[in-house]
Amino acid sequence: MSPRYDAILIGAGHNGLVAAATLARKGRKVLVLEARDHPGGMLGDPAFRVAPLPYALRPEIAKALQLDQTMLYKAKPLDVLSFGADGPPLRVAGGLATGVDIATAEAYAALYARLGRQAKALGAMLLETPPSLGKANLSEMAGFARMALKMRLLGKTEMRDLLRIILSNAWDLLNDEIGDGPLAGLLALDATLGGAMGPRSPGTVLTLLYRMASHSPHGHGLRLMPQGSPDALVTALADCVKAAGGEIRTGAPVERILVEGDRAAGVRLASGEEITAPLVLSNASPKTTLITLLGVAHLDGEFVRRCRSMASKGMVSRLDFDVAEPPAVRCGGALLSGQRLVVAPSMQAIETAFNAAKYRNLPDRPALEAVYDGATRRLSVSAQFTPYDLAGGWTDEAKAKLSASVLAVLEEALPGIASTVTGSRVMSPADIEAGYGAAGGHWHHGELRVDQLLMLRPFDGAARYRMPVAGLYLCGAGAHPGGDISGAAGFNAARAALRDGGH
Ligand SMILES: Cc1cc2nc3c(=O)[nH]c(=O)nc-3n(C[C@H](O)[C@H](O)[C@H](O)COP(=O)(O)OP(=O)(O)OC[C@H]3O[C@@H](n4cnc5c(N)ncnc54)[C@H](O)[C@@H]3O)c2cc1C
Repeated sequence: MSPRYDAILIGAGHNGLVAAATLARKGRKVLVLEARDHPGGMLGDPAFRVAPLPYALRPEIAKALQLDQTMLYKAKPLDVLSFGADGPPLRVAGGLATGVDIATAEAYAALYARLGRQAKALGAMLLETPPSLGKANLSEMAGFARMALKMRLLGKTEMRDLLRIILSNAWDLLNDEIGDGPLAGLLALDATLGGAMGPRSPGTVLTLLYRMASHSPHGHGLRLMPQGSPDALVTALADCVKAAGGEIRTGAPVERILVEGDRAAGVRLASGEEITAPLVLSNASPKTTLITLLGVAHLDGEFVRRCRSMASKGMVSRLDFDVAEPPAVRCGGALLSGQRLVVAPSMQAIETAFNAAKYRNLPDRPALEAVYDGATRRLSVSAQFTPYDLAGGWTDEAKAKLSASVLAVLEEALPGIASTVTGSRVMSPADIEAGYGAAGGHWHHGELRVDQLLMLRPFDGAARYRMPVAGLYLCGAGAHPGGDISGAAGFNAARAALRDGGH
């Protein structure tokens, strides 16, 4: 009997939905199986959303899936308040910074524009399958060639500058160009957020460029912000799958990937139900997919060793604070709904917070990114440098300690906020791992760093979406080009499966 489905997607994270929609729109009969009772993965649970600031969806993907861009998105610079140690916050939108002296604002604008051009050149690779380290085919080499050409078009001076800085650290670059302070803190947070790196770590200029490329596909700091709540994006992606004939089942955790004659043959659910399909794309993290769902019996020893040793210990916790009134901003005004707030007063402060995390401790002053939602009166905070493998474990006491230190840092930026809090919740990296099938609870399902990028992502031998068992693909943030709500990994993986014949 032939299988009822052409492809099974494990996980309805936004990448799983993008992959499903891409396959379904090409006529494939797809079934998406989601363990949770809500689609959208880390973006998806309105009660406690892991990813509160989805502004990186690639416009190329929105266009390919014919999402209604006018309804969904507004391309605009994201309004950011960045707090120093004292005084009013800086207001930053793309390359425009107000609240600093003119010389610093000009130096920042020039640096932002230059990095933006370089990021755009590198960004040519985001929607490409990285070429193989062995024999690459022509179309894959063409993607690389496009990036090389864009780098060449930067001109000799800027290309040389890019080659000089690309593997260096954000600390040196930003100190040289704009000096330390809340402006450098903001960029250094972008360079390190979600990863186990401080601004002094080598490779943090590359991660900054990556963020700029993926967060600002239009260049000039413009970002695609969903109109209304992030749920609009999840609903649009789920509707797109269904409109193309795909099915989505929630509350359906996959327990095993089935293999027959060295090929993926379908899945078995935790309920015991078996569903067959010649293609299986997994939105779960690489470790979860390969070690837990597929099983090491189907893999060679060296591959398993690399998978197990891939860096994927998360560093970010999410906290929600329900507040009785809109938070007041230090030195005047109220925090606006949708405004991004950053408390990373300097690179030194970020590095100090990282130092504690390196030794598996909580920092006294975590670096923070937050957004206030006026409709729900909720401040959603991502607290950076809260290690997955915290010494002593993620006990209730540890979470209470983190909540208190985050609130103390917020109180300096938003005076009086503590007295308006009516409820709070903490989700540690360990909770994120348990809740979303992301090993280590990592932001990108695996560290974004030089040895886990491009043709080495998620690890050497497992890149380019195709796994050693034919018909099995990785389509989540662990695959190239990594995480954030961009949809790129899901889109690229589905296109790789289609190119391979894709049933
Ligand atoms: C604390 C934190 C804050 C973040 N904030 C932001 C932000 O503000 N903006 C931003 O752009 N990015 C943010 N991110 C990153 C972003 O959330 C992720 O990179 C992104 O969600 C990855 O998308 P995905 O679709 O690949 O995977 P996920 O969103 O992790 O989805 C994977 C899905 O697979 C399902 N699944 C796993 N195993 C199984 C199984 N066995 N059976 C069935 N289903 C399964 C999971 O339940 C989940 O729904 C944040 C990350 C963290 C950790």
